[in-house]
Amino acid sequence: MIAFVTGASKGIGAATAVKLAEAGFDIWLNYRSDTSEAQKVAEQIVGLGRQCTLLQFDVTAHEAVENTLAPMLEQEVPFALVNNAGFAKDGLMMLMSPAAWEDVLRVHLNGFFYVTQAVVTKMLRKRQGRIVNIASTSGETGVPGQTNYSAAKAGLIGATRSLAMEVAKRNILVNAVAPGFIDTAMLDGLPKEEIVGRIPLGRVGRPDEVADVVTFLCSPQATYITGQVLSVNGGIYT
Ligand code: NAP
Repeated sequence: MIAFVTGASKGIGAATAVKLAEAGFDIWLNYRSDTSEAQKVAEQIVGLGRQCTLLQFDVTAHEAVENTLAPMLEQEVPFALVNNAGFAKDGLMMLMSPAAWEDVLRVHLNGFFYVTQAVVTKMLRKRQGRIVNIASTSGETGVPGQTNYSAAKAGLIGATRSLAMEVAKRNILVNAVAPGFIDTAMLDGLPKEEIVGRIPLGRVGRPDEVADVVTFLCSPQATYITGQVLSVNGGIYT
């Protein structure tokens, strides 16, 4: 069985691709630009005895998504899709450029839409599948300096709930995982000590702690969970 993870050259996506490979999936590994890191993740997956297909494209480029996925989906349909690709462009709303607003909405919402539409159409025919969307605490609570990112992630949660209802009858389960502060490049430049002080568990999370929850949602143990948001945040928001 295949699991397709977007934005998996590093961080949460890379950890998720490796955990899913450990769970027995072959991996379609999407990334945008960092070929050398993506290759390292692929080597790890191959070292686990699984296959890894590297797919370099920008999830916001509709044509590239279509052109890459259409021929692959004619051959095989992934059992699991993890929409993880993303980034933040923080700044106070009053000072935010239209580009920062649009780029962040585009990667989390358009990216989700383009990739998921291509894949779910094929999952419907198979009458099976799992889709996990990586949201964020920011989309649940709001965070100053992240109106764009909060809007995108809250939108992704809404899309998760609606899509879950649309495809449930065909045995496709759709959920979101909402990480809190996780130790990846996304935290670079943020005041870690101040952040840790606000987290009940007293530390930031690790990518593998998010990956374990995603892997569970793609497992045979998670057959009656759909339309949900599972928060993995050290207790910062309940
Ligand atoms: P990261 O370490 O910066 O990794 C981001 C990954 O996304 C990279 O593999 C990057 O590829 C890829 N990517 C970015 N834009 C892309 C695009 N347009 N098309 C395809 N791939 C793209 O970030 P992370 O912290 O693991 O974040 C992963 C997801 O978790 C994001 O959706 C993020 O919003 C969410 N999240 C993170 C945290 C956190 O604290 N870290 C908290 C909540 C939610 P290249 O590097 O190859 O360009």
